[in-house]
Amino acid sequence: HSSSTCYLADESSTLRCGQQFASALQPGLVIYLQGDLGAGKTTFSRGLLRGLGFQGKVKSPTYTLVEPYVTSSLYLYHFDLYRFNDPLEWEDAGFREYFNAESICLVEWPDKASGLLPTPDLAIYLDLADTGRHIRIDALTERGHQCLSRFTP
Ligand code: ADP
Ligand code: MG
Repeated sequence: HSSSTCYLADESSTLRCGQQFASALQPGLVIYLQGDLGAGKTTFSRGLLRGLGFQGKVKSPTYTLVEPYVTSSLYLYHFDLYRFNDPLEWEDAGFREYFNAESICLVEWPDKASGLLPTPDLAIYLDLADTGRHIRIDALTERGHQCLSRFTP
């Protein structure tokens, strides 16, 4: 499988990387965002949404589990499953329907709902490195490969 890596020296680099990545996206993608608390997952998501043309505030969905966004071209659901612990809630909240051909799903802490989530097209790993962050994007499906081939960091 293919992957892309980059060193992000500061917060604005993470924002810029997310923003660049946005132009490679297409509806239907499932993207896992992995890394410790404070690694920069939400910052990357913020840049990505900015790249999709979303002008408003991007909050961390830590308490709401998911924040929906509508841009001119697609729906994006930003999940943060850090606090997720009730599989019944998955059904009740209708989360399964969020994963469809018209939407992009960006999921922080996917391991908290393993078994419920669809397999990802792309997995993004953020790690602390010196004073910045290291990012790696892995393509795991054909659709993911196509996306990554359009991405120039
Ligand atoms: P997470 O969602 O992974 O818990 P956040 O996106 O909330 O992490 O970011 C945590 C902190 O890391 C923020 O204060 C942000 O400014 C900082 N940060 C993001 N990217 C970088 C970077 N490349 N270098 C240094 N600090 C960064
Ligand atoms: Mg976060």
